[in-house]
Amino acid sequence: MEYKIGVISGDGIGPEIVAEAKKVLDQVAAKFGHTFLYENILMGGCSIDATGEPLTEEAIAAAKASDAVLMGSIGGNPSTSPWYQLPPDKRPEAGLLRLRKELNLFANLRPAYLYAELREACPLREDIIGDGFDMMILRELTGGLYFGDRKTEEKDGILTATDTLTYNEHEIRRIARRGFDIARKRRKKVTSVDKANVLDSSRLWRKVVEEVAKDYPDVAYEHMLVDNCAMQLVKDPKQFDVILTENMFGDILSDEASMVTGSIGMLASASLNETKFGLYEPSGGSAPDIAGKGIANPIATILSAAMMLRYSFDLDQEAASVETAVKEVLKAGYRTIDIMPQEEAKRRDVTQIRTAQMGDLICGYI
Ligand code: NAD
Repeated sequence: MEYKIGVISGDGIGPEIVAEAKKVLDQVAAKFGHTFLYENILMGGCSIDATGEPLTEEAIAAAKASDAVLMGSIGGNPSTSPWYQLPPDKRPEAGLLRLRKELNLFANLRPAYLYAELREACPLREDIIGDGFDMMILRELTGGLYFGDRKTEEKDGILTATDTLTYNEHEIRRIARRGFDIARKRRKKVTSVDKANVLDSSRLWRKVVEEVAKDYPDVAYEHMLVDNCAMQLVKDPKQFDVILTENMFGDILSDEASMVTGSIGMLASASLNETKFGLYEPSGGSAPDIAGKGIANPIATILSAAMMLRYSFDLDQEAASVETAVKEVLKAGYRTIDIMPQEEAKRRDVTQIRTAQMGDLICGYI
């Protein structure tokens, strides 16, 4: 099959880590007989330098014309980069916010997976970690508290701020369907997280999730209150497969879940719209402190590319081959500097490698 992939390399380590993800995609193409056509798209600081804008209309059109977009990261050091002297709507991040809106990316997926080889980076106790954990946080991204009406006003001489949390049944249904669809590709369990003991929006959330669940009799589901979920994530993370939740709860829970896996350089993410289209990017930023040194960890970007294969192209076998290759490379003892704790560096069975070597090694296992 032939796929058109928009590529936003971006700033800082972006070009370095995206180059490795493309290397791995090309290896997948050669092995499985696909063609990936890449179209470079400017966004962020590099776009400001070239065009004066963080995202041009031309770039939006190119992204829309792609089957999926693979992204590195954008932005520079906010205290030293001239990009941050510009008005907020002209800064690098404004480009990303605009692109997410233009593409109507309402579903954000963040896997939290603990590799056996990296368990030393997990802050949880050995008995809690057990055989490791593997969950997917699915967060609604375009509704709820962050998009509701807000105001700050003075009432009887007292400053009062109001934010509104609104969800309609259509918004809930489409994200719930996505959650059950994703669970079908995994271990077939959905935990829907809400605050239905207090919030009306959560009670509607729960009602709609129950309706949607009827169409997925092969997927087990449960409801969990958000405060309990925050506790369970550190008490017994193994119980989770897909966590389905609204925007603000997902914002908080996805950071909590990702922290228990260790390094930022390992964390993939995807944002999807109502079609198969998605934007795939590592959870970390442009890491200006290590940019250009060839030492960034490309694994999060490579795993984001694997998510693209699975969720936008339905190439499950190909995605699994990339994920397995990453595990094999870690098992063989290869580490970039961010996942190589000091005490490991002294061991003979682990080898510190650079960005491009990591890409090459992963290709070798595909
Ligand atoms: P950051 O994620 O870029 O870096 C935080 C720390 O993690 C740094 O020490 C960095 O070296 C390390 N790190 C990050 N990714 C790594 C990787 N792949 N391999 C090894 N180490 C890695 O966060 P920050 O320093 O707060 O932000 C830097 C810039 O990135 C800012 O301009 C910020 O706005 C931007 N940012 C962009 C995105 C995005 O493009 N979606 C996301 C977050 C931050």
